[in-house]
Amino acid sequence: MTNLNKAAAMTKVWEGRRAWQMAPVCCCGCDTRLEVDEKPDRQKYFAQGHDARLKSILRKVLAGQMKRADIPQAARTNLARLKFVQASPEFKRAFARPGQRQLRGQAKMAIE
Ligand SMILES: [Zn+2]
Repeated sequence: MTNLNKAAAMTKVWEGRRAWQMAPVCCCGCDTRLEVDEKPDRQKYFAQGHDARLKSILRKVLAGQMKRADIPQAARTNLARLKFVQASPEFKRAFARPGQRQLRGQAKMAIE
């Protein structure tokens, strides 16, 4: 990956977070709108009990029953802030991109 591409990808992630912060939705993929908390460290990332839904999605990805591409965009955007994901090497692995090949596949999907 060239430095230029890397910078573009980082900008995209940053913009995604900003957009999410303006209008937060549940990270399980159900798109339930969440209230914006004035204190960022108190911002909620899930509707009541929906963290369990994301956990179940991640378990299916790890078991090969779902694809990484099926992980909700909101969850990817907030990956670094989802405490139960950061606390679990297993869940983090569900988000991990195995290599360049996967990256290229995702870029293609984004264009389509
Ligand atoms: Zn939800």
